[in-house]
Amino acid sequence: MFDNLSARLDSVFKKLKGHGKLTEKNIEEGLKEVRMALLEADVHYKVAKNFIASVKTRALGQEVMRSLTPGQQVVKIVNDELTALMGSQNESLNLSGPKPVSVMLVGLQGSGKTTTTGKLAVSLRKEGKKPYLVPADVYRPAAIEQLRTLGEQLDVPVYPSDGDMDPVEICRKARIAAQKAGCDTLLLDTAGRLHIDEALMDELVRIRDEVQPSEILLVADAMTGQDAVNIAESFDKALDIGGVVLSKMDGDARGGAALSIKSITGKPIKFIGVGEKLNQLEPFHPDRLASSILG
Ligand code: GDP
Repeated sequence: MFDNLSARLDSVFKKLKGHGKLTEKNIEEGLKEVRMALLEADVHYKVAKNFIASVKTRALGQEVMRSLTPGQQVVKIVNDELTALMGSQNESLNLSGPKPVSVMLVGLQGSGKTTTTGKLAVSLRKEGKKPYLVPADVYRPAAIEQLRTLGEQLDVPVYPSDGDMDPVEICRKARIAAQKAGCDTLLLDTAGRLHIDEALMDELVRIRDEVQPSEILLVADAMTGQDAVNIAESFDKALDIGGVVLSKMDGDARGGAALSIKSITGKPIKFIGVGEKLNQLEPFHPDRLASSILG
């Protein structure tokens, strides 16, 4: 995903390392190229601008590390700042609160919400939790069926939602059913639309207010680049999300969403989807991604 960005940064750094001593001009020229490389990777322009400003301040400052050459120092600063940009550390799922707790999954249709619900069930079960799946998308009967099939496949209980029920009612009743079934974590697969609309947001707010989830996760498709960032911003404004699952990170998108979401929304990416299979969900580690970008 970041092949292009990695290659571009590598060539900038090679040039910088070639100078024994770095002048302000060398640094500025290098950073101009870094900025271009970020924009080409579909990083939000504001994020790229602030990023370059932070790197420049540090690179021109008095951060002398005797073990590193000036060129290596710039690479280290870029690495640190890339990590910080994505939130520094992995942030885990918030499952605090009276049991059973609810995790609400939200996102546009096709983003990978239902698949991620199944993936989370697998990962929670590995941690010894007892997940309970709740299909709350009553507008697409296929969505209810999809989650039911996933539940059967995984041997995880699924609330028998009916397309005629109100989604808020489904989530309320599902909590009681989950408790009876001895489950501790509800995964609410809410409705998605092709575009953000007010009716959808109103419904999600009603569900949130009723179930008081410990976590609201937005599932956003990394392949949509800047759109994923805008979508995260809109969902966060309406719902105050806890974090993002960036799906389809195995695709050939340019990666800008991964680098921009935290900085634009203030909300961390908690997981990434790296394939269609149910074991292809990974906790997101900013430092590891930064290191892999820098090679
Ligand atoms: P929903 O409408 O948001 O519930 O989306 P789905 O869960 O039905 O997923 C839409 C499509 O994206 C399906 O074909 C999934 O297999 C696929 N998908 C979901 N997550 C990933 C991922 O991390 N990587 C890849 N390659 N495909 C994914």
